[in-house]
Amino acid sequence: MRSLILSDLHANLEALRAVLAAASGAYDRIVCCGDLVGYGADPNAVVEWARREVSLVVRGNHDKACCGLEDMEWFNVAARTADEWTRAQLTPENLDYLLNLPKGPVSAGGFDILHGAPADEDEYLIHVHEAAYAYRYLAVPLSFFGHTHHQGGFVFHSNGVQQLRKLAPGVDQYDLRLEPGFTYLLNPGSVGQPRDHDNRAAFLIHDDQAAVASFRRVDYPIEAAQEKIFRAGLPRSLAARLAIGA
Ligand code: ZN
Repeated sequence: MRSLILSDLHANLEALRAVLAAASGAYDRIVCCGDLVGYGADPNAVVEWARREVSLVVRGNHDKACCGLEDMEWFNVAARTADEWTRAQLTPENLDYLLNLPKGPVSAGGFDILHGAPADEDEYLIHVHEAAYAYRYLAVPLSFFGHTHHQGGFVFHSNGVQQLRKLAPGVDQYDLRLEPGFTYLLNPGSVGQPRDHDNRAAFLIHDDQAAVASFRRVDYPIEAAQEKIFRAGLPRSLAARLAIGA
């Protein structure tokens, strides 16, 4: 089984289309580590696509906020403005779908998917010491997470934990061979709002037969996504950050 692993789509339809085109023919199913909506201008289109095409989705903090499950007190002004706008845009069917997304970690058959950290869906795993703490809560040797919008993740072995580096500029694929006896906590990166100083949309394809996790990046028409953010009257900073990938 080849799984296309996506996370943090954030209602960016242009980025999603580019990812699906780049991954076309290379996967059998799609799973998602959360945050379908928030920030971007196409929440209904992205949720409707997920309802049709995605086998399994765990909820992200913005999915919760946009359907009223999460207090937005800790969100910055731009995020809160966008999530309130999103909530007003979503159809009742799409709101209902977001309301009923499961909390991670959830088994996707062969691996787990989660949004933030295994013990807390809202926690960020950015640094090695955070991953080392999270390790004890991992139920299986392979898990995929999101939330940080940083492609990469962590490999645990008897000598300790190693942080994976992001792809170099101009490199659009890195195949990580998954070794028996190791534990992997991998982040496909963000489709719709990368924050690792690479503005290309990020995704990952896991092939369980080949035991490979393939980290991928693809360019997408950023200006088109920005134009929709302007037209929707969303904070302009949300468009600016797409260009720099931060
Ligand atoms: Zn996110």
